[in-house]
Formats: sequence, C-alpha cells, structure tokens
Amino acid sequence: MNFVRPEEECGIFGIYNHPEASNLTYLGLYALQHRGQESCGIVSSDGMDLHTHKSMGLVADVFEDEEIFHTLPGNSAIGHVRYSTTGSSVLKNVQPIMVDYSRGSIAVAHNGNIVNAQIIKDELEAWGSIFQTTMDTEIIVHLLAMSKANALLDRITEALARVEGAYCLLFLTETQMVAVRDPNGFRPLCLGKRGDAYVVASESCALDLIEAKFVREIEPGEVVVIDKEGINSFFPFKKVIPTPCIFEFIYFARPDSYIFGKNVYMVRKELGRQLARENKIDADIVIPVPDSGVPAALGYAQESGIRFEFGLMRNHYIGRTFIEPQQAIRHFGVKIKLNPVQDIIKGKRVIVIDDSIVRGTTSRKIVKMIRSAGAAEVHTLISAPPTDYPCYYGIDTPTRKELISSSHTVDEIRKYITADSLGYLSVDGMLQAVGAGNTNFCKACFSGSYPVEFPILSPEAQLGIFNKE
Ligand code: AMP
Repeated sequence: MNFVRPEEECGIFGIYNHPEASNLTYLGLYALQHRGQESCGIVSSDGMDLHTHKSMGLVADVFEDEEIFHTLPGNSAIGHVRYSTTGSSVLKNVQPIMVDYSRGSIAVAHNGNIVNAQIIKDELEAWGSIFQTTMDTEIIVHLLAMSKANALLDRITEALARVEGAYCLLFLTETQMVAVRDPNGFRPLCLGKRGDAYVVASESCALDLIEAKFVREIEPGEVVVIDKEGINSFFPFKKVIPTPCIFEFIYFARPDSYIFGKNVYMVRKELGRQLARENKIDADIVIPVPDSGVPAALGYAQESGIRFEFGLMRNHYIGRTFIEPQQAIRHFGVKIKLNPVQDIIKGKRVIVIDDSIVRGTTSRKIVKMIRSAGAAEVHTLISAPPTDYPCYYGIDTPTRKELISSSHTVDEIRKYITADSLGYLSVDGMLQAVGAGNTNFCKACFSGSYPVEFPILSPEAQLGIFNKE
C-alpha cells in the first residue's frame, strides 16, 4: 500500500491572459527556486487544450531547451517548484498534476500539506478510486472529479470542504485559472498584474522579476476565479482565525519578498536587533551564516554596536550532489558550501548568527571551522526560538526525535556544537520583532501548539505520512 506523503516546501506561480504565459511562468519559477529544488513543471492552456512539461531538477535545467516553450502554447499557465524527501521524489510526483475527466482537463499546483490526506485517500480507494501518485494533492483532484456540481468554483469548494491542513492552490482549466488560500492562510500567496494579465505567486519576488505590479495578498480562505469575464473573489469556507506560518519569515521566504503584510528582510533584521537586546555578549565581530543569517546579523550588529563582517564565504554554485574524495576530508559537506576568511577571524571573539538549529550538524561544523581559522572565542546566536517540534503544514523538518532541541537543554546543545556560548531568541521577542500585533501566527515548530489538528492514524500510516526515508 502506498501511503500519502506530505507535500513539502513548494512554490507556485500562475499567469492568465498573456501571450508569453509559459515563458513568464518559467521566470516566475526561477524567482521561487528557493522554495523547492527537487523538481518543477509548467502546464499551459491554449483555450482548447492543456499542455505540460515537467521533470526532476532545477528550473534552469528542466527548461534549458528553448524549444520546450513551443510545446507550451497559450495565454495562461501555472507552474510549480517542489522540494520533498528523497524517497518520494519520483517523476510521477512532479507537479502540476494534470488530469482529463468527464468535464475536460484540469491541472493543479499545490503548496502546503493536507493533514487528513490518508483518511480521505483510504475512503476514496474503498470506493474504487485508483491513485497514480503518493501526493496529497491528488486527493483534491479525485474529490473534484467526483463532485456533481456544475461550476468549477462549486466543485473546488465542495472538494476543499473535506480537506484540512495547509494549501495554496492554483487550478488551470482550458478557460479559467483559480487561486485558493486555505482558511488558516498558513502559506503566502499574492496577486499581481502585468498589463491586462493577472499573476498569482507564492511570493512577491516572482512578480518583481516579470515586472508585474503587486496588487494584494490573497486572503486566508479566499478563492479567486480568473477568466475572460475578469477576476472574481469568493469566501466559501467556514471562517477561522488565520494562522500564517512564522517560519516563512525566519527562514523560508526570500528576504526581498513581501509576505503577510511585511517585507521579509526588514523582519529578519528586527529579529537580529531583538536578539541583541536579549543576548548581550562581549565580542569583537558579528558574522552571519550566509545567506539566511545575513539580515539578522546586520540587525544584531547595528543594535549592539559590534562590527559586522563577512567572516564566512559561501560558494553559490554547488549542485545537489558532489563527489567526495576517497581520503576523508573533515567536515567536507560544509566546507564545500562555506569557507572562513582567516584575516577577519584570527584572534577575534566572534559572534556567529544563523536562523535555526535543526539537527545541530551545521552549527557544530561551522563553530569548528571558525575556531580552526583562529578565533579566540565563538558565540553562536540563533535568530529564533529552539525548533522543538516538527511542522505538519509544509515546512520540511525532521521527526521530533531528530530535532536536537526537543531532547537537549541549551547548554547540552552548546556543548555539542562546541561553542563558548549559545543563545536563542525568546518566543515573545520573536513575536515582537515580527510585529505580530493581533496576528495569531502559527508557531507550532517552537511551541508544539498546532492550529489545525491532525488525525491520529495507524502507526504504519503515520510512518508514511510523517517520517522521512
Ligand atoms: P542542522 O544542521 O540540521 O542543524 O540544520 C541547520 C541549518 O538548516 C541552518 O543553517 C538553517 O538555516 C537551515 N534550515 C533550517 N530550516 C530548514 C528547512 N526547513 N529546510 C532546509 N534548511 C533549513
């Protein structure tokens, strides 16, 4: 039996009513590459038929050949970048999913994770449905195909009424594009305009690249239907208090994006300032773990008055795999990515700032690397609280057992990473830095309080859904 696997860390992009729809979708996916590097795909519509091209690999590689765009004709298109765990990364799981059914063709691209996927799948299989993928997204397609409603909006509403969890969705038919954000609004989704064309993207950085104007964010629980009549907005679901994901600000989204009403870079810098208020350290320099630690380290340096330096250089051109030399080189993996600048570090008391510690392996290697470059002291600061709990709403985190802070004290982690001191940001400090105000952010990865419950499943099903291979 194939268990449904979570759809983790994805980016979606769609454009309606532009003569170069598939080409602009390709560029949009390029800007969203940080949300998923495993596979990608585009489905276009020429008004009569849907066309698709998708494969494993980065956007630039999958769409390397210009000829591909001749096979993706039409004025509308949707695209998807996907990151998932190794075992489930097979070609059949690459999105968008496209199907033909009694009413024509439909394609769907999904970012998020449906928590009751296994239960719905078991039920549908008992009624005779045959699944082709192990993706939770396919469940939506089956529910949609089974609906007796006439209008696409009603079929989508009926299907999604059964679904719980996190989802930003883009549907494409021969004549319509529909964007949906789940009632909790876990993941970001925004609407843009380029001339007469409408654009929808996970993050605003994708609008910037294609010179589309940012119109607004798509609201939690909103369904936006775009067709030749124009654009229409609906709120067909039961209203809940929205819980956007705070980890998008901390690590996942691109700093130049504008999500949940704020610029990510400015938020990260403020996280760094707050970190400085909460962790005063006598040191000579502040260095970031590039790239994700940069804005927070800048904020820390400005607030504390301690000099900011780029003490670690990052190689931006590493692919997914590299061949290790036969004779072991210590900390090879991290060395391929980062190298210390000795003249900056030697003899200094160094504060190194990163956004999170997951298993602790990266921080341990980085501390050792900084020390071997001659640092007098190494103090590690994290611009978020300890990541104690896994995410079930679309961020790739390991099981609770593997999260070092779920079973170790801060001092035990400090010892493990071999730092002179280790400090995290408090939950209150994080909320203050984010400017949460009345927004009830999802911070389940820090607090263990999950805004949407996930069903208790059999041990086998839990293994299928929540564990890595
Ligand atoms: P680890 O070595 O397991 O402790 O991982 C820590 C590193 O992973 C940090 O440098 C983070 O920036 C990065 N990180 C945090 N969350 C994620 C995530 N969901 N996916 C990929 N990398 C992450």
